[in-house]
Amino acid sequence: MEFENIPFFRPDKYEEYVSFSLENTHLEPNQIVLYVNIGINNPFYENIQTIENPYYIRTLVNTYNKIHNSFIPSDLVSIAPNHYLRAEAAEAFLEMQRYMEEIDLPIVVRSAFRSFPLQFQIYNNNVASMGQKWADTWSARPGHSEHQLGLSVDILQPNTENINLSSANFENTNQYEWLINNAHRYGFILSYPYGYTHVTSYAFEPWHFRYIGIDTATYMFDNSIPTLDHYFATRVYPLEYVENIEQIDTNFNNIISTNANEYTEIQIENEFSVMNVVWIVIFSFLLLFFSLFVTAVFFRIKRKLYRKKRRLAMQYDFESISRKIKDKGEVGARRNVVRGSGINKRNVNRGSSSNRGRRIGSSK
Ligand SMILES: [Zn+2]
Repeated sequence: MEFENIPFFRPDKYEEYVSFSLENTHLEPNQIVLYVNIGINNPFYENIQTIENPYYIRTLVNTYNKIHNSFIPSDLVSIAPNHYLRAEAAEAFLEMQRYMEEIDLPIVVRSAFRSFPLQFQIYNNNVASMGQKWADTWSARPGHSEHQLGLSVDILQPNTENINLSSANFENTNQYEWLINNAHRYGFILSYPYGYTHVTSYAFEPWHFRYIGIDTATYMFDNSIPTLDHYFATRVYPLEYVENIEQIDTNFNNIISTNANEYTEIQIENEFSVMNVVWIVIFSFLLLFFSLFVTAVFFRIKRKLYRKKRRLAMQYDFESISRKIKDKGEVGARRNVVRGSGINKRNVNRGSSSNRGRRIGSSK
């Protein structure tokens, strides 16, 4: 079928493409592949996967991909009183904020890192006051917020402390205008642009910026890729072809490929299998050397025991002979010899010293 010709077609999703296209006959094949790759053929918050590596800088967090409840980044840095981002994002943000200050476009931080329990509280308050549909449009469920990654920041113009986010009209400010055209130079993207609620589940959030690194942010900007979901869904599979992605994404400008978690998992799996082989080889060598060593030690001990046994036997023979001699009454000078090797040595020494004496004598 025509799906195979889409560059970011994924064989494992073939059945899903077919069934989604039957329900959505008005969509082009590339849109079918794009949407199924994003996952929106499933309702939001269904088919949820837990993210393997939330430290991956481009981790995709959405309604289908969840951060573990206990995850708190270990490298949080303060960017404003009581607001934190991961070190890399914090440095980029502060640099951008300083520059904006210089060109007379000051910004303030409304919110940055948020823990799972805090997001839990925010979402539940929204549900209690506005109902679940509203809460799902204006806030992420706990575990599904980019704020928990420590890579997202809500930005407003100054003097908006007591205004709620959507009443601040940040989208009408020069700060917003500058950010959507330049934030990528510092590694930031606008996560939830206007008109993509059907993909992200969230309403337009002009204040919510996400750090993904300068390269990816610039790439998305240059190719007009609207969301990180689109970015990953248009990545090709398998990874060997990732180099060609620029051309593919340009061809399918508004479209999508491999999702972030699968992408990281594949990398981990590959590394894992290579490491397995290396470990098996190392282990076999160690095992071989160890068995050789054990064999060597065994034979050495065996030889020592044999020698000791033989020495004892000889000594025994010696003693029994000397006893016989003793019995015969011939004790005298031989007694020292009989008592064992120590005395033997002394005799030898004595012998050698007398030899030495003789030699010295002869040299005179
Ligand atoms: Zn936000």
